[in-house]
Amino acid sequence: MTEEKLSFQAEVSKLLHIVTHSLYSNKEIFLRELISNASDACDKLRYEAQTDSSLLDGDSDFKISLSLDKEAKILTIADNGIGMNHDDLINNLGTIAKSGTEAFLKAAEESGKSDVNLIGQFGVGFYSSFMVAEEVVVTTRKAGEDKAWSWTSNGEGDYVIGDATRDGHGTTIQLKMREDQSEFLEDHRLRHIVKTYSDHISIPIELKGEEDETLNSASAIWTRSQSDVSEEQYKEFYHHVAHAFDEPWLTLHNRVEGVIEYTNLLFIPGSRPMDLFTPERKNHLKLYVNRVFITDDCDEVIPQYLRFVRGVVDSGDLPLNVSREMLQHNPVLAKIKAGLTKKILGELKKKAEKDTEGYVTFWENFGAVMKEGIYEDFAHKQDCLALARFKSTQDDDWVSLAQYVERMKEGQDQIFYISGDDIDALKKSPQLEGFKAKGVEVLFMTDPIDEFWIPGVGAFEEKQFQSITKGGADLSKIKKDGESDEDAKEESADKDGVDRLCAAFKAVLGDSVQEVRSTDRLTDSAVCLVAGEGAMDRNLQRMLKQHGQ
Ligand code: ADP
Ligand code: MG
Repeated sequence: MTEEKLSFQAEVSKLLHIVTHSLYSNKEIFLRELISNASDACDKLRYEAQTDSSLLDGDSDFKISLSLDKEAKILTIADNGIGMNHDDLINNLGTIAKSGTEAFLKAAEESGKSDVNLIGQFGVGFYSSFMVAEEVVVTTRKAGEDKAWSWTSNGEGDYVIGDATRDGHGTTIQLKMREDQSEFLEDHRLRHIVKTYSDHISIPIELKGEEDETLNSASAIWTRSQSDVSEEQYKEFYHHVAHAFDEPWLTLHNRVEGVIEYTNLLFIPGSRPMDLFTPERKNHLKLYVNRVFITDDCDEVIPQYLRFVRGVVDSGDLPLNVSREMLQHNPVLAKIKAGLTKKILGELKKKAEKDTEGYVTFWENFGAVMKEGIYEDFAHKQDCLALARFKSTQDDDWVSLAQYVERMKEGQDQIFYISGDDIDALKKSPQLEGFKAKGVEVLFMTDPIDEFWIPGVGAFEEKQFQSITKGGADLSKIKKDGESDEDAKEESADKDGVDRLCAAFKAVLGDSVQEVRSTDRLTDSAVCLVAGEGAMDRNLQRMLKQHGQ
């Protein structure tokens, strides 16, 4: 028998160290993770078998089985899913491809101790086995291949891969429980854990015994009616489908009937996933055709600016043998995408109206992503604008554009904003002085995407967006509260003298400035720099410079 000893990738070692040494109180979740992986493995094989049924090798009755050997202190979790070959083992159980790993490890390191909350949010998947087991043995055979492999580790630095035998495709995971973890060798404990965390798994989870016992309901949760699913069950399904561990902020479960039929069970996460701003801007929605998993890698199912939405879409109107390539220009999928977009934006609008405070949580997590929609989704530009919230000079609350317009001063016909990376720096900007003096509200634009959508939309409710660091911001027509026309005239009385002064400045500064002029935008500072009306905004100039342009 050949054996090779391999080292875990450095990140995995770090992660394992955190997992095994943290005082993670919720150790039982290892079972949820292993069952979740087993279920994913069955989904994958079911999908592959659509185009090559020989892969099933006569065994298409997918199930997950648990068995206990109390004497040897071994808990076994087995599935007849896709299985892994030698290279899969190295890639999947020796490295972490998960985005956000680095960020997670860094945060964990910085917090000094292994923050339980952090682990909870991150989800350590397969590696959580080492919270309860002193040794893990994986025996697996990939569907369509003859050879089986074993993978053994105690979770400390390295693992051993060797030859093995296994009847049929799938994966068997044996956990040699730690001395103090024998509670997980009790039937009733397993029964309870499966019911709590894995009831929604759509294939049967069996407990082996004198008589085998099915522990879960084993029906796809999204096919049930809303009234048959408890909030707790929705939450557990969200954890499974999103690989997340927070509370969903919003759950959308509904069936659409008509020209095209589909069911969606969608979640908006309660906290921000770590991979939101990767260049691929990928979504993670799972697409099913009549309960058969097709893919979670399909750009056509939801717009990119809604990529934070998690969950499942299941339609009987797509062909079952649909290939991922065929999904690219599929008219049915295009209609589903349009339907989902409308539904999600509609629900957000309702939430924004009914639960202002709750909506702020959502906006703080996903606002910067949602703003991409103003720029990219022509059909929903106005909806996205109406959903947007901004910080402003008024107070520390978030303001909508509608509120801004409502609060505009007499004579004001523009929506004023100032952009930059840092809101505290912006608040000190001398450009704001005149606006403050007249009580005119100015919005802070601090997301990089703001530079792109603002020039594109131009206006909201016919009010133009106007950068206050550009020449066209005109305060002269706007009156202070309670100010009469006479007062306004008086203030600009000494215009002649000022004009002469400006001319003198221009003579000295020459070509280094385009124009020198008086302004009512300043009250305390004597001078400030602004860009010409047609010129690039100062912040945009800074951004382009940063990118070497
Ligand atoms: P995740 O499930 O988030 O990808 P895990 O750490 O839980 O992360 O699992 C890592 C990978 O190991 C999985 O993506 C999968 O490729 C592989 N894997 C784990 N368990 C199984 C299994 N029972 N059958 C087949 N592959 C598995
Ligand atoms: Mg997993």
